[in-house]
Amino acid sequence: MRLLIQGGTIITFGSPCRVLEGQAVLLEGGRIARIAPAAEIPGPFDRVLDARGKLVLPGLVNAHMHFYSTLVRGLGKAAPSADFQEVLENLWWRLDRKLSLDDVEMSARIILIDAIRKGTTTLVDHHASPGAVRGSLDRIARAVKDSGLRSCLCYEVSDRDGAAVIDDGLEENASFARRCASSNDPQLRALFGLHAAFTLSDETLERASLMGRDLGIGFHVHVAEAASDVASNRSRFGRSPVERLVAHGILREGSIAAHAVHCDEADKDALAASGAWVVHNPQSNLNNAVGIADVVGLVRRGVPVGLGTDAMTVAMLEELRVGLWAQHLRQENPSCGFMELTGALVVRNPEIASRLWGFPVGTLAEGSAADVILVDYHAPTPLDDSTVLGHLVFGISQAVVDTTICGGRVLMHGRRLEVDLDEPALAAESRRLAAALWERF
Ligand SMILES: [Zn+2]
Repeated sequence: MRLLIQGGTIITFGSPCRVLEGQAVLLEGGRIARIAPAAEIPGPFDRVLDARGKLVLPGLVNAHMHFYSTLVRGLGKAAPSADFQEVLENLWWRLDRKLSLDDVEMSARIILIDAIRKGTTTLVDHHASPGAVRGSLDRIARAVKDSGLRSCLCYEVSDRDGAAVIDDGLEENASFARRCASSNDPQLRALFGLHAAFTLSDETLERASLMGRDLGIGFHVHVAEAASDVASNRSRFGRSPVERLVAHGILREGSIAAHAVHCDEADKDALAASGAWVVHNPQSNLNNAVGIADVVGLVRRGVPVGLGTDAMTVAMLEELRVGLWAQHLRQENPSCGFMELTGALVVRNPEIASRLWGFPVGTLAEGSAADVILVDYHAPTPLDDSTVLGHLVFGISQAVVDTTICGGRVLMHGRRLEVDLDEPALAAESRRLAAALWERF
């Protein structure tokens, strides 16, 4: 399959993020084979997409996601929660225990369609269904395969549901990671999932650490999301969550620490020394009223900070905007955080995906994965290398995604899904499953 995209304005992402005019993009063999003037790229082509009046961007990367939260939309049964611990106890931990494998698969299917529509082609997911652990990652993987998108999966191990569920969670991570490595499917990757230090004993952390090391994969874990995580770890273990997770070899290169909101100076230094990525999820942090991570301070120390949504949305440019406003407030300075936040989406997320996949993902460059989106946008002010990040935050974030391509396969064009997914039928089935789940909740 040789697919040519011509006539659009290219935004490369990566560092530096460049704007290219008069260039066409050739997709072949799942990669970006060539970026050059159309006249210099010889045919024949299986398909040519006209991108005039559109921007050509790489498919966006969401570095922290929970597919399983889809069926909670509109659920009004949770008791009012005074703090984050109560949000977990009144909502998420009541919900995830009741999820069936069918619920898990449907949750992923619904949100993956939304991801196609929003141009997010790579999602790093973190899954929990303690009442249906074994086989859950395979069911999500099936939904990912059908969507045509890329996803890195893990199961969040936690001590909160007892010994049998711990064993199942550890084994679900390991068996999925082994299958992933042997199949080397370009749509699927694995990390080793852990919930958060405050729901994990030293014994479980040590077991996971050894398994992750044997498998040669990093960890994906919530870190210091709320002040209660820090207080619990300090009172029970005499250490902060960061210190415990570093000591057990969980936070290291190739691992994702989601949130890192409540980190003192020593924690930030320890994160920098660990080599782990921090993934910032500003909309979720605002929604849960847990605080806002000091992204500026983390980046200043050399911590690589990426951007996730924690399931609040799959629209990454929306998350970027909100993240920037939140960082202004956090720093009490409206000029502070622009490069750190835009860098998280434009530079760090592609780096995270590229490391996880083992080949370049998330940038428009020859050799990168053929993950491309077309966005309707007529720049009302000069658009060039020096202004592109401002256009992303203030303009392109409000524009509509017209076309989504992943691995060289067109999943949506002219805002119509080309992938074989019956959206109304899936939504109807999802409503049926959600109603039944809410009864059990
Ligand atoms: Zn999360």
